[in-house]
Amino acid sequence: MKQKEHNKCCLCGSTDVADTGYKLRDSKELKVLRCNNCSLVFLSSFEHIYKDFYKNGKMHSPNFQPERWLVASNTDDTRRFESLKSRIKGKSVLDFGCGAGGFLIKAKEIADVYGVEQQEALSEFFIKNKLNVYPTLESIDKKFDVITMFHVLEHLRDPETMIEQLLNFLNDNGELIIEVPNEDDALLSLYKCRAFANFTHWRCHLFCFNKKTLKNLVNKCNAKINYIKPIQRFGLANHLYWIFKGEKGGHLKWTFFNKLDCVYKNLLKILGKSDTLMISLSNIKD
Ligand SMILES: [Zn+2]
Repeated sequence: MKQKEHNKCCLCGSTDVADTGYKLRDSKELKVLRCNNCSLVFLSSFEHIYKDFYKNGKMHSPNFQPERWLVASNTDDTRRFESLKSRIKGKSVLDFGCGAGGFLIKAKEIADVYGVEQQEALSEFFIKNKLNVYPTLESIDKKFDVITMFHVLEHLRDPETMIEQLLNFLNDNGELIIEVPNEDDALLSLYKCRAFANFTHWRCHLFCFNKKTLKNLVNKCNAKINYIKPIQRFGLANHLYWIFKGEKGGHLKWTFFNKLDCVYKNLLKILGKSDTLMISLSNIKD
């Protein structure tokens, strides 16, 4: 059945929307659109993400194992924990869309931690790892000092409402920290690497934000922006491999470039071409 397609921008409402020509790695039907007015990139339809899509574990392959997810996310979980540990020490923390709980497992050593994860298949794993994880936000009756949401916002059909709901779960002086992939990633905006573009866009990323569109979204939510921080996850080896070989995994193969990564990653952050953005929000005080 043909899905209903967007005929205007999901953020600014402009009808000046064009096909980027990028392919999705896992769908032939969907298109990647860009708004010529505000630069938001989004999928041509969101209908494939139906109500229980994530609850039923449809993001993963059928033989998915949480232990393997933890191994795969360990570098990111460690980076997030190290960068936020002074902020969360002794505080109550909620990680919304916590996946296999990699960040929570580290954070529970220094904070009172909770998670929200829809995926039913993970519930036994959470019990085994002594993690308090709720299936939905609606089942929570407390507030938190810090709420984190790592690489979740771009999956949501209505990110604006979700930000507003999460802000309601913050204590006074609480902070909502959101991390998303950056559509201004150097591989896309600087090197125009088609192989990467056709890989990084996929059916679960309904939105692809950059600094400007992320700010525009948040400004609709009546929140105060504390900071927006560029983060560069991948280094020079990964980028050169994409450019010359058209494939992922260069950071595991051309490791001799790692010595240059400190300078290279910093340069991309300065240029506004990092692969990741982190934004911190608080409630506006009356
Ligand atoms: Zn727009």
